Amino acid sequence: MRAITVVPGEPGSAELADLPEPEPGPGDLLVEVVLLGVCGTDREIVEGVHGELAEGRERLVLGHELLGRVREAPEGADVDRGELVAGIVRRPDPVPCPCCARGEWDMCRNGLYTERGIKGRDGYGAEVVTLESEFAVAVDPGLGDLGVLIEPASVLAKAWEQIDRIRGRACDAHERVLVTGAGPIGLLAALMAVQRDFEVHVLDRAESGIKPRLVRELGAQYHSGAIEKLPPPDVVVECTGVAEVVTDVMLHTGPNAVVCLTGVAPSRTLSVDVGALNNELVFENDVVFGSVNANRSHFEQAAAALQAADRDWLARLITRRVPLERWEDALAKGDDDIKVVIQFDA
Ligand code: BGC
Repeated sequence: MRAITVVPGEPGSAELADLPEPEPGPGDLLVEVVLLGVCGTDREIVEGVHGELAEGRERLVLGHELLGRVREAPEGADVDRGELVAGIVRRPDPVPCPCCARGEWDMCRNGLYTERGIKGRDGYGAEVVTLESEFAVAVDPGLGDLGVLIEPASVLAKAWEQIDRIRGRACDAHERVLVTGAGPIGLLAALMAVQRDFEVHVLDRAESGIKPRLVRELGAQYHSGAIEKLPPPDVVVECTGVAEVVTDVMLHTGPNAVVCLTGVAPSRTLSVDVGALNNELVFENDVVFGSVNANRSHFEQAAAALQAADRDWLARLITRRVPLERWEDALAKGDDDIKVVIQFDA
């Protein structure tokens, strides 16, 4: 079978390899991959700046955004042969830490967690993969191919769960949300903000094209200018990881604001007035926090959020489908790309 493999830390090492089909262990599903979403994390692994081999392996199977069809299911599994599944990315650390011990591996405290296709565990980028049944999430057949969006949406379901908890510390007066970045993560963050009935603003560099259209169709407002011109938000979901944007959003909020950082930023030094930043946070009771990954309940919340969304709008988030033999094209980012997926069953 064909699999996209890479040597983490070695740029240019990614290739389509021929591997034997995996043998399911006890409790494992055997899954035929239908679609695999690609994201910035995959690009970073291919560029050699991220990723870690599984113990005893020489190459890492890439890929963590899975939509697959069950070929074999063990007795007692929650999903049956023929059903569509998404795959949870992270596995708890073996110690386990108090968070992993209660299924909150997204909050792992000792860093010994593993992640399929990213850190210490082979991913889903192969024609056939094994998936531990307790890390499989059933995909409603009505969602079909759009089930490939469950993994990226799970990251936002987690972020929004945290935002909702933090918002609870102030009087219930939050009205306006700003999302920075109109890529797949930003658009899914905006979708969940609209689903919560907020006034939603999305800021991105693009001045025209599909991003403004998708934002407006959601019923949100699109901006591409300076952040200072926007009305002060009560909640910010920062999805760019761009240093200037990260500092700008912290400095331009309304009172009692919650700023959630979800982007991964490359190393970058900026000159920032820390005194002004401190005073903004203190005098306004602002909270800035980071959010990564997702546990099972977030995957379930993500599936529910996608179910409740407009199917045509969701379908337009998938801007390119690339057959497996041209997997490299999927990793090259085009200007008008939102979510690019690799089609395994073409
Ligand atoms: C994945 C997360 C993962 C993070 C860091 C993201 O692309 O969606 O599940 O925790 O990368 O590795």
